[in-house]
Amino acid sequence: SPLFSAIEMAPRDPILGITEAFNADQSPAKVNLGVGVYYDDNGKVPLLECVKKAEAILIEKYAPRTYLPIEGLAAYDKAVQELVFGADSAVIKEKRAITAQAIGGTGALKLGADFLQRFAPDSEVWISDPSWENHRALFESAGFKVNTYPYYDATTRGVNFSGMFAALKAMPAGSIVLLHACCHNPTGADLTDDQWTKIINVVTERGLIPFLDMAYQGFGDGIEADGQVVRRFAEAGGALFVSNSFSKSFSLYGERVGALSIVASSADEAARIMSQLKRVIRTNYSNPPSHGGQVVATVLATPELRQLWEEELAGMRVRIREMRQAFVEKLKAKAPAHQFDFVMQQRGMFSYSGLTKEQVQQMRENNSIYAVDTGRICVAALNNKNIDQVIASIAKVL
Ligand code: PMP
Repeated sequence: SPLFSAIEMAPRDPILGITEAFNADQSPAKVNLGVGVYYDDNGKVPLLECVKKAEAILIEKYAPRTYLPIEGLAAYDKAVQELVFGADSAVIKEKRAITAQAIGGTGALKLGADFLQRFAPDSEVWISDPSWENHRALFESAGFKVNTYPYYDATTRGVNFSGMFAALKAMPAGSIVLLHACCHNPTGADLTDDQWTKIINVVTERGLIPFLDMAYQGFGDGIEADGQVVRRFAEAGGALFVSNSFSKSFSLYGERVGALSIVASSADEAARIMSQLKRVIRTNYSNPPSHGGQVVATVLATPELRQLWEEELAGMRVRIREMRQAFVEKLKAKAPAHQFDFVMQQRGMFSYSGLTKEQVQQMRENNSIYAVDTGRICVAALNNKNIDQVIASIAKVL
């Protein structure tokens, strides 16, 4: 048909391309550091004990599979809101926050983008340079012009704060600013508390619309500590969008569990926002799937399971920190002329390692070690069995 014959091949996803090349590699010693998933020390994606227990409880109920409400399971939305904003948050008490279950963090971002396109169609979106590669495409597909603000500074291996701050200061009122609430993907470089204070002030003063993406709560410094940025923005009093994801923190990638929260200035405004958000959901997929939401709601609302989850999440966080430390120490021993201490300062699953595209390619060709061309490595894919090979390969290409 002429309809189809004119269709061109879409560009390949660069990160999925790495996984394809990795899968085709016959070397028994191959290591994939290009992934965006947490692996345990055996190189496996874990199934958390708290999830197993919650699923056992749910199975016992043999509940009928009715539709969930458009905005998702009420118990889930409530538990998520308390996790994200804090149970004693004023925005919850004053009913100024609304939360809708979403199809993962990606679905939450898309709901927020579609909602904003209806009510702020003339605003432009600003994402960090660099950012999670889907941010741009998501907001562009919702109809926005997407710009970048300076973020990563390759010379300091940290945040170019003055550049970022100046960019926010120059944005027109009503601009939508996408910020990573913690554990910046892809760099691992986060802002300090003082820097956040300055960002919150400039966002508030200039009337910008903050959209916080929190895909890694609990992977940085802990569930509470990682949630601080969201809470501080909520206290600042302006409009606020928050997308969050449980893909990593519950190791529930394929169940697609996330949520979008919006903070308004009154309960009445919040109710109107929710009614409009429900229209966005209804016309996209009607209502979310129930299993993942039931599991997360059960864990969060059952004290023993919640404690277990917090322990298991702490286990993932600590293991990542140990791998960062081992990475730095082992490189110091093998390549003492090079400085990698910054890897300990980074947070979350990823590290901008500073490796160049050429070095990444050499590692792939010589040792079957796969990283992203930007030098991004997934620290959560390192383990006690593969780290020495990885270090040896890096030391050779430095
Ligand atoms: N935001 C960021 C920063 C992410 O890294 C990711 C996924 N890795 C997402 C959103 C999407 O999360 P999900 O997989 O739950 O859709």
